[in-house]
Amino acid sequence: MTLSDRIMVLKGDITLVDAEAIVNAANSSLLGGGGVDGAIHTAAGPGLLEECRNLNGCAVGEAKVTGGHNLKARYVIHTVGPVWRGGARDEHELLASCYRNSLKLAADMKIKSVAFPAISTGVYGFPADQASLIAVKELRRILRREKFPQMVYLLAFSEQQYNLYIKTLKEC
Ligand code: ADP
Repeated sequence: MTLSDRIMVLKGDITLVDAEAIVNAANSSLLGGGGVDGAIHTAAGPGLLEECRNLNGCAVGEAKVTGGHNLKARYVIHTVGPVWRGGARDEHELLASCYRNSLKLAADMKIKSVAFPAISTGVYGFPADQASLIAVKELRRILRREKFPQMVYLLAFSEQQYNLYIKTLKEC
C-alpha cells in the first residue's frame, strides 16, 4: 500500500466513523466541551467522562488514550490543539505535535485505523488552510516510518473542509 492509499478524506460526523480509534480535539481539562469534543462525549456516554477524570488533563500538543465506551470505535485518543493567537506562539509546532503524538500512541498500540477531526480549526480559530497543510505533512512524515495505523481518515465536517483536504493532499 502506498503512502497516499493510507490517508483518506471522509465527510461527516466522526462519532459515526468505522475506525478502531477516533481522535478527540479536546481541551486541556479533558472534561468535555463543545464542538467535536461534545459530540464524542454525547455519543460515548458518561463512562468516557468518568475515565477522563482519572487522566489529570492533558497538555497542549500531547495525547492520551481512553476506551470508546458506547462509540463504535474501540479507543478515543484525546489531544489538545493550540488556540490560534496570530501564529507566533508556536501554534504550528503544537498542532503538528497533536498529530505526531496521537499517531505515535496509535502506532505503539498497533491500532489499525484512526480518524482525525480538523484539530483547532473550530472554536480554537486555527486557519483551516494552514492546519490542513500541517495535518497532511505530519501524517505523511510519520506514516512513512510506521506500519500502524494502516489507515488514517481525515474527517471533514463541512464541504469546504472536505475540498480543502482534497486540494492539500493533491498539492503537497
Ligand atoms: P477546536 O476547539 O480544536 O477548534 P472544535 O470542535 O471547535 O475544536 O472544531 C474542530 C473541527 O471539528 C472543526 O472543523 C469542526 O467543524 C469539526 N467538528 C465539529 N463537530 C464534529 C463532528 N461531530 N465530527 C467531525 N468533525 C466535527
